[in-house]
Amino acid sequence: MRILLVEDDNGVADALSDSLTQHGHRPLRVDRGADALLAHHDSDLALLDLGLPDIDGLEVLRKLRAVTPLPVIVLTARGDERSVVRGLRLGADDYLVKPVRLFELLARIDAVARRAGAGVPVSGPVVVGDLVIDLDARRVTVGGRAVDLTTKEFAVLAALAKRPGVAVSREQLMDEVWGDAYLAVSRSLDVHLTQLRAKLGRENLTTIRGFGYRLGD
Ligand code: CA
Repeated sequence: MRILLVEDDNGVADALSDSLTQHGHRPLRVDRGADALLAHHDSDLALLDLGLPDIDGLEVLRKLRAVTPLPVIVLTARGDERSVVRGLRLGADDYLVKPVRLFELLARIDAVARRAGAGVPVSGPVVVGDLVIDLDARRVTVGGRAVDLTTKEFAVLAALAKRPGVAVSREQLMDEVWGDAYLAVSRSLDVHLTQLRAKLGRENLTTIRGFGYRLGD
C-alpha cells in the first residue's frame, strides 16, 4: 500500500519508513502539512503527525477531509482526550498515541484500509437526462450526438459524474482536476464550467451558489 507519512521528526520518520517498507508498504514521506495536501493524490492511506512545522495537523486533516475520502490515521504525541475526540470528529479513521507499537500500527493500517475498500466504485456509463458520460471510453453524448470536450473539461465533468446527483464543492473539483484544492485557480474552474454548460446544456449542470456544482438538475 502507498502510505503517505506526514512527519517532521527525522528519527521517527526514518524508523517508520523502514518498518513499513519491511512489511510490504511503499511509504512516501513529507515533513510539512502543505506538502501532505499535494502528495495525498498518490497515496492509499496517510499517517498524520499533528505537531508539524507549518500547519497544525488537525487543520491538515480538516483540509484533506474537505476534498478526499483518503483513509487517515493520526499518529501523535497528543494523547489528551480533547485532541483524540477532535481528531476523530474531524474525520480521522483512527488515532494512535506515540510511541506507537509497530504491529498494532500495521494491524490498524490493514483494518482502516479494509473498511475504506468497501465502497463501490461507479461502473458503466453515467446517464443524466439526455446526457450520457462513458468515463472509461472518455465519450460524452447529448441526445445521441457526440460532444467534443477538452481534456480539462472532461476532467471536470468526470469529477462530477463520479457522484451523479451529488453536490461537489469547488475545492473537491479543483483538487481532483488541478491537484490542489487551495491554489488560486478557481477562475479557471469557472471558465471550464461555463464551456461545459454551453456544450452539454445548462439544465445538465447545476450551480450551487457559494458551494459548487452538481451533475443533473
Ligand atoms: Ca512532529
